[in-house]
Order: sequence, then structure tokens, then C-alpha cells
Amino acid sequence: YLWFMMRENEEKLELFGIPADKLGEEFEKIGEQKFRAKQVMKWIYEHRQFDFAQMTDLPLELRDWLNNNAIISIPETAEVARSEDNSAKFLFKLSDGKFVESVYIPDLKNNRHTVCLSAQIGCKYDCSFCATGKMGFVRNLTSTEIIGQLYEIREYIQVGGNNLTNVVFMGMGEPMDNLDAVIDAIKVILADVGFGLGHRRVLVSTVGIPEGILKLMKTSLRTKLAISLNAPNNKLRTKIMPVNKKYSIESFIPLIDEYVQYCKRWVTMEYVMLAGINDSLKQAHQLVELLKGLPVKINLIPYNPIEEVDFKPSDDRTIMRFQSYLLANSVVATIRQSSGKDIKGACGQLIADFTLTKNSN
Ligand code: SAH
Repeated sequence: YLWFMMRENEEKLELFGIPADKLGEEFEKIGEQKFRAKQVMKWIYEHRQFDFAQMTDLPLELRDWLNNNAIISIPETAEVARSEDNSAKFLFKLSDGKFVESVYIPDLKNNRHTVCLSAQIGCKYDCSFCATGKMGFVRNLTSTEIIGQLYEIREYIQVGGNNLTNVVFMGMGEPMDNLDAVIDAIKVILADVGFGLGHRRVLVSTVGIPEGILKLMKTSLRTKLAISLNAPNNKLRTKIMPVNKKYSIESFIPLIDEYVQYCKRWVTMEYVMLAGINDSLKQAHQLVELLKGLPVKINLIPYNPIEEVDFKPSDDRTIMRFQSYLLANSVVATIRQSSGKDIKGACGQLIADFTLTKNSN
């Protein structure tokens, strides 16, 4: 019986996390008008109405058809870990029993409420300082599963009396490696009948995959871009980010100007500060040589220790000195305030111990 139910769901039309263009095509296939897609989206994301019978501006016939042939799949929230700093890490259970994590990061001073989404379960790239890489690559997420994370956390934010303002693809996995699903998810995030966010409130963070950056630029989404640089030269970068063997620094630097013309915002270069590895003034100087004159800002990220490796975080004075050197040499640099360290929800810590054990059985 359960098998029968599962079979039946597989054949149903998924409505959740699907962009209006695709959904419109599906409606056309059944002889309906395209614009019905937007009506349905409005019910789902704005009115939080999942009962087709209550979607009162749809013809009765269509409501009936949807009732028999469509589904709205939302992941189950398995666990919420709240941090002392009010950020929260969410563990979602997906339909195949696998788990994925996402993080809510409030910034009350600036009234920013950011959700950090995962694009994959695990990751292929195995950056030496990142916990997600240690679990290996499990699978891609669908746009339904990506939007599921956002939908659930938006409810949490609203219960707290606030509004979702920003989305970053900085959770588990590499967004460029699952770009079709990420693009579909972004379309839902930007749509008026979806989450209605402005395009510069969405940021995609990548290890620097040029094909992905080029493909993103072919869309009209114009979201912001961050590249995880983490080292000022190829030798060191290859040591801590194996992906650099395939995509060296020179493979993405030339795309920066083009991206800024496309999005009209500077590209962020992320740089995790590892004590004695990449935090010397000599390396700051190399960074200046590499990035001088480019429309980029460097975001220095204090390293969040993970259990699997023995890197040490640079101390505050070293980070500030590094930043001062960059600023004095006309390279814009900020220091990221890390959230959720106590719940292992900070950058590079998403694996969660419980996810690891649960995903591997
Ligand atoms: N795969 C994408 C997005 C996920 S990582 C990317 O690499 O950009 C998001 C950011 O967290 C990256 O800039 C990465 O360098 C950083 N990061 C990874 N592990 C970290 C750790 N242990 N401490 C601090 N930042 C980390």
C-alpha cells in the first residue's frame, strides 16, 4: 500500500518550489491558461494555502484536477537549534529520509533577516577547512527542497515578528554544481507571487566555477556573487582547496568585471582566516597585488573550528592587521561577524553531527 502511495505521488505534478514559467507550461499541457500558475503560487507563498478547494479564484474544475493530480511537498523540520546570538540552525528531513541543514541569521541592528540555504547534501570539493566536505557528496537538492528550507524558516522569522530580507546560498554544497535547481529556486525567491525579494538581496557563493558564473550571467536574475578565494596564490589555494587544480585563480578573476556589469554590485571575495596559513602581511600584500583595481570587496571570515582538522583561527589582532593592510592599499575589506558558533551553524560547520550520522545510515 505504501509503495502504491509513493508511486502515485511520483506521478503527481509538484507545485512547490517550481518557477512560474515552468508551472505555466505544465498548466498549458492540461489545457489551462498559463496565468493560473501565478494564481496558484500566490496561494501557496502569500496566503500559505495548501488546500486546493480553498483556492477560490481558480475554476472549480481546475481545483478538482489539482486535488487529484498535484502535490505540494514541504520538508519536515526535524530539529531547530537556537543560538545564544538568536541565530538558529534548522535540520530538515527530506522525502527520501535524508537530512539537510540551513541557518537563520538575524541582524537586528540593521533589520536584516538572512536565510542561509543549502544547495546540496554534502559537497564534492572537500575544502580542507570545511566540515561539509568531510561527509562527501550525497546528492543534489531539487528546487522544491531548496524552497522548502526557505519557506519553513520564513515562517519562523515571521513568528518572531520580523520579515525575511536576504537569502544567501552559503550552506551545504556548491550552488554552481546544481545550478539548474538553484536558478529555479532563485526565480521563486524573486517572483512577486513567490517570496518577492529584490535581486540584490540574494547572493550565490561559489568555490569559483567559471562555467557556472557564465551560465548565471546568461539569466536575467542578476543576483549578487561571492567567490571563496581563501588564498592569495595558486600554490596555497591548491593546498587548502583541491578544486583549485581544476579551476585556478586565473580562471575566475577575468569574469569579475563582466559580473559587476551584469549585476551592478561588486563581487565579494571570501577569505577564511587560518592562523599561520594565509594570514601574514606578506600574503595580504599578495592579495593587494592580485585584486588591486578590481571591483571586489574582501570579506575576511574568522575560521570556525571544525573537529576533523587542526587549523587554528587567526587571532583578532592578526585579522585586524590584515584588514588594515588591505584598506591602506585601497582594497575594500570587511570582517564577517560569525553567528551560531555554539550550535555549529556558522560558516563551514554545516554537517551537523546529527546529520552525519543520520545521512550515513
Ligand atoms: N560552496 C560554496 C558555498 C558554501 S561555503 C562556497 O564555497 O562558496 C560558504 C563560505 O564558508 C565559503 O566562503 C567558505 O570558504 C567558508 N567556510 C568554509 N568552512 C569554513 C570554516 N570552517 N570557517 C569559516 N568559514 C568557512
